[in-house]
Amino acid sequence: MKIILTGDRPTGKLHLGHFVGSLRERVRLQNSGEFDKIFIMAADAQALTDHAGTPAAVRENILNVALDYLSVGIDPKKSTIFIQSQIPELFELTAYYLNVVTVSRLERNPTVKNEIAQKNFESSIPAGFLCYPVSQAADITAFDANIVPVGEDQTPMLEQTREIVRKINELYGEVLVEPEILLPKNKICCRLPGVDGKAKMSKTLGNCIYLSDDSKTVAEKVREMYTDPLHIKVSDPGHIEGNVVFTYLDAFCEDKKTVEEMKEHYQRGGLGDVKVKKFLLEVLEEILNPIRERRAEYENNPEEVWKILEEGTLTAREKASEVLARLKHAMKIDYFK
Ligand code: ATP
Ligand code: MG
Repeated sequence: MKIILTGDRPTGKLHLGHFVGSLRERVRLQNSGEFDKIFIMAADAQALTDHAGTPAAVRENILNVALDYLSVGIDPKKSTIFIQSQIPELFELTAYYLNVVTVSRLERNPTVKNEIAQKNFESSIPAGFLCYPVSQAADITAFDANIVPVGEDQTPMLEQTREIVRKINELYGEVLVEPEILLPKNKICCRLPGVDGKAKMSKTLGNCIYLSDDSKTVAEKVREMYTDPLHIKVSDPGHIEGNVVFTYLDAFCEDKKTVEEMKEHYQRGGLGDVKVKKFLLEVLEEILNPIRERRAEYENNPEEVWKILEEGTLTAREKASEVLARLKHAMKIDYFK
C-alpha cells in the first residue's frame, strides 16, 4: 500500500511557498495514480496550539485552505480532505506517543525553536505548542502513511515521527508504519523565501503572495520585491544571489534557458529590474490564472466545500479508528472488545 498524509495549518490563506513546497507535488502525486490513498488535512487543532484565543479565525481559514486545495487541483474524488479536530482518535494516539518522547527532545526541535523565537513566546510557551510534533506523528501514523510530501521545515517533524514509530514498535510489536519525507526535487522549492528576501515565505510573517491574490495585488507585490540594492543604474552589473526575483524565476519558470540568459545579462549589466519583474509577473500569472478560475467555481458555493470536508472527515475517521484499535490491542488496553 502507498499512502500519503499531508496537511496545512488553517492560520491563513495558502501562498506560493505552499504551492512549490507541497501543493504542486500533491496534485502531481494524486494524478499519477500510484497511490492507494491520499489524506489531506486542515490541521486546525495544531493551529490552535498557538492561536488559542482566535478560534473564529481558525474556523474561517479552514474554508480558505479548502478553497485553496480545490483551486490548485486537489480532487475530492481522488484525495480525502478532512479536518483534524473532528477525529478524536488522533488525540488518543498523541496521548500514548507523549509517553515515549522526552521534554528535552521536544525542546531540541530546530523548527519549533525557530518558531518560538519568531512568536516571542520566551518562557510562556504553550505546552500544546511544544508538543505539536508529537500530534503530527499521530496524524501521520493514524493513516498508515508511508509518504509525506512537505517543505523542508518539516524535516525535524518527520524525524520525530520516525523515532516514535520505532519506539512504539519496539515496545508493543510492529504496529505502526514508518513514513518517509518527500521533499521537492528543486532545492529552492523546499523553502521558498518571502517577497522581502529574508525568512521563508510564511503566513505568520506576512511576506507572502497568496494563491488567492488578484492580479493587481500580485503585480504590486512583484513591483516591491527585494532585488539587488547595489544594482542602481540599469547598466550596473547586478547580483542574483539573494535576489528574490531570480529565486522565484528558478522556482516557477519552466523555461530554464531564458532564465539562465537573463541571469547572465543581469550580472553583466544592462538588464533592468523592471524588465525582470515584468517577466516574473507573466510567469506567475500563468500559474495563478487557472487557480483563480477554479476558485471562482467553488467560492460561491461554500456549502459544497463544507460537504466535501464532512465526507472526507468521515472517511478519514474510519481509517484512524482502525489504527488506534490496532495500537490499543498491542498495548493490551482493549479491555471491553
Ligand atoms: P504558519 O506561519 O502558520 O506556520 P506556514 O506558512 O508555515 O504557516 P504551514 O501550514 O505551517 O504554513 O505549512 C504547510 C506546508 O507548507 C508544510 O509542508 C510546509 O513545509 C510547507 N511550506 C510552508 N511554507 C513554505 C515555504 N516558504 N516554502 C516551501 N514550503 C513551505
Ligand atoms: Mg509553519
